Amino acid sequence: DLKQYQPRTDLLKNRVILVTGAGDGIGKSAALTYARHGATVVLHGRTISKLEAVYDQIEQAGGAKPAILPLHLSSASELEYSQLFTTLQNQFGRLDGILHNAGILGHRVALEQYDVQTWDEVMNVNLRAPFLLTQFLLPLLKQSQDASVIFTTSGVGRTARAQWGAYSVSKFGVEALSKIFAAEFANSGAIRFNCINPGATRTSMRADAYPNENPQTLATPDNIMPAYLYLMGPDSHGITGESMDAQQP
Ligand code: NDP
Repeated sequence: DLKQYQPRTDLLKNRVILVTGAGDGIGKSAALTYARHGATVVLHGRTISKLEAVYDQIEQAGGAKPAILPLHLSSASELEYSQLFTTLQNQFGRLDGILHNAGILGHRVALEQYDVQTWDEVMNVNLRAPFLLTQFLLPLLKQSQDASVIFTTSGVGRTARAQWGAYSVSKFGVEALSKIFAAEFANSGAIRFNCINPGATRTSMRADAYPNENPQTLATPDNIMPAYLYLMGPDSHGITGESMDAQQP
């Protein structure tokens, strides 16, 4: 029961954790929360000024010195992924966790009207990037005693709904990606792969998807952090191939 979960303050001490989309919304909250629990956080995103603001907040709070790693996930080439690997390899030599959080909504229109450029962009950011990032960074995850990879799913990644288009399809793909990695590493013991469904959360993506909703009625990113701590840290050791809800009734 996540409502009872009390993470230790040093839960993530000495762990190096990459958070994608760390400049805003849920990813920003996760980066700050992981740093507060002792992690050295690698802040990935596309808007450098936002990443620098999170970096400053971590330093001011006395957290371990973070790193900033910009990469446009909609267009990143294999060369850029391999350069990212080399950077992390040289700087840290290992990785204890990845939170695949970056995502885009795309269009809320019927498939009949869905334009292919948006389709490709959503697939690249939401599905291709978590696949390639994980694949390229596996050698670093293998250097960890207890590595956790978290993918971000959605309600429409489990039940398809009209007008969720590429976003829904990409999140179904993410659920499969996580389960396939989990199955392929089931006997290795040292790397686990799980999904989190944040549930309705007060961010700019949610406001874009539901413009008529009052954001004050929604959970904040900070409210949903227990699930993100639980799955990233040692308390979830041995759990793999699961898809969890961050908000439970
Ligand atoms: P936000 O839009 O607030 O934040 C998304 C983050 O992803 C931003 O930091 C953004 O960077 C980054 N990002 C987007 N596109 C790219 C790209 N091409 N390259 C690199 N970084 C990129 O979204 P949320 O915090 O709401 O969502 C986080 C995750 O949770 C997503 O995967 C989303 O699908 C999922 N989710 C959210 C729900 C909600 O209610 N909020 C519900 C269910 C799932 P920048 O700020 O620079 O644009």
